[in-house]
Amino acid sequence: MNVTIWNENLHEQKSEKVRELHPKGIHGTIAAILEEEGHVCTLATLDMEEHGLTEEVLANTDVLLWWGHIGHRLVSDEIVERVYNRVQEGMGLIVLHSGHHSKIFKKLMGTTCNLKWRHGARERIWTIKPSHPIAAGVEDGFLLECEEMYGEAFDIPNPEDVIFMGWFNGGEVFRSGCTWTRGNGKIFYFQPGHETDSAYKNPNVRQIIKNTVKWACPTVRGAIPVMKFEPLEK
Ligand code: ZN
Repeated sequence: MNVTIWNENLHEQKSEKVRELHPKGIHGTIAAILEEEGHVCTLATLDMEEHGLTEEVLANTDVLLWWGHIGHRLVSDEIVERVYNRVQEGMGLIVLHSGHHSKIFKKLMGTTCNLKWRHGARERIWTIKPSHPIAAGVEDGFLLECEEMYGEAFDIPNPEDVIFMGWFNGGEVFRSGCTWTRGNGKIFYFQPGHETDSAYKNPNVRQIIKNTVKWACPTVRGAIPVMKFEPLEK
């Protein structure tokens, strides 16, 4: 499988703490998780030509992972359109943490994707659909000692599946792992992954990221066509 990991790679330039946690960038941290499964990972960042998401890179991508936050507005609309079309054609898309406000996620959802947030909370994530392939091998409930609180209401269209539910020690709850289909593409949103916290070291989070890539791998390639159609029955 060919996996592309896109990261804006901006916090890494500004914060020593982020560099310490992610010496090869957040994209490098995520790649290390997927390389344990033998996936070939292409790394793409905002500062690269065409943000590293050329026609050629996307044509060879089965699943794209997206981490963005402070640079959402700097992503070109042309590239967003290109990613959008590839999702329609079957490319899987995994949107991580603050990617909820990325142009591509908002375009695919058609909603504001707004939510409540607060830095520094303890989170318990519950696996509420254990039969889903993304939950394979994931504990029933697991704790992240420090993570950014994301709270409901989360303005998303009704997911096809809510696999994980987050509870925070301020009392908030959140649909932390949700799936949708757009065209022939499978989409998963996963809430943990704040840049100064260590969610990506958690074995359950790592397992989920490995599972999502397998789940989102295309089963159909090419967009659903619009076509004049002759009757099959005379
Ligand atoms: Zn965050």
